[in-house]
Amino acid sequence: MAELNIPTAPAIEGATHLHSGKVRDLYELPGGDLLMVASDRISIFDFVLDTTIPDKGEILTRMSLWWFDQLADLVPNHVISTDVPDAVKGRAVVCERLAMYPVECVARGYLTGSGLLDYRASGEVCGIALPDGLEDGSRLPGPIFTPATKAELGDHDENVTYADVVTTIGGERAAELRELTLGVYARAESIARERGIILADTKLEFGARPDGTTVLGDEVLTPDSSRFWPAAEWQPGRTQPSYDKQIVRNWALSPESGWDKASGEAPPPLPPEVVERTRGRYVEAFELLTGQRW
Ligand code: ATP
Ligand code: MG
Repeated sequence: MAELNIPTAPAIEGATHLHSGKVRDLYELPGGDLLMVASDRISIFDFVLDTTIPDKGEILTRMSLWWFDQLADLVPNHVISTDVPDAVKGRAVVCERLAMYPVECVARGYLTGSGLLDYRASGEVCGIALPDGLEDGSRLPGPIFTPATKAELGDHDENVTYADVVTTIGGERAAELRELTLGVYARAESIARERGIILADTKLEFGARPDGTTVLGDEVLTPDSSRFWPAAEWQPGRTQPSYDKQIVRNWALSPESGWDKASGEAPPPLPPEVVERTRGRYVEAFELLTGQRW
């Protein structure tokens, strides 16, 4: 397991810190609800950078809330309110605590990332056979459910087969999660397409209420959990331009940064110009998708 350089989460009065991931901090509120806070942290290649991207946490929080609304008739979600302590206003939501299913529910309409690696090795993704001749960025014959198991902090998620999910949570739950995941993808893909954006893939997390109802949790359809590509620039056979941290990744890998990925050291601080362009990319994605001004 890799060492992760996650900074200490700030104390929030009246809330108990539970967990910090690379980007978000989770707290418990009196009464048992959760406070999910999105920081301005950014990670590339599993390193949390020393430099933050101003407004990123708020942009992603607002985007996720907007999507929860778009999906509300398909699946209930965990959001209770956005009435949060002043220190985290705009970047946090109060949500109900769910018993999370131990499955990362991924839907893919296009082939890239770990899906592409699996396909190149076996012609399959998560046990689903795909046609020959697909390239990086190819559109799949139809969207597929490609579950993964959540890794320990710092490890990569591992793709698993649908049969593995059945073994873990039972056939009925597995079928429900697959159907919900593909339903959410279909809705979101069509909304994004109308706005000139391809939703290549997305990762969802579901959990159960005490009464057994399945509820959509975590964050949804943000650039941290999904791949959004400008439709006009889509061209299979190469890495697609995308609305996320690509600017940061490209800079880190360029000679300009002086960083050696193989060194095992964290990348150096980002130049202000890279920070500004990255922030602009998140704002652009927010505005295009939601139709709202930032
Ligand atoms: P990273 O995303 O950095 O790889 P991570 O997933 O551990 O690491 P976060 O995404 O910041 O870090 O953590 C959010 C945690 O909260 C996840 O474990 C997620 O499954 C969990 N979670 C999300 N929504 C709920 C909920 N409603 N109830 C309980 N747990 C939730
Ligand atoms: Mg996470």
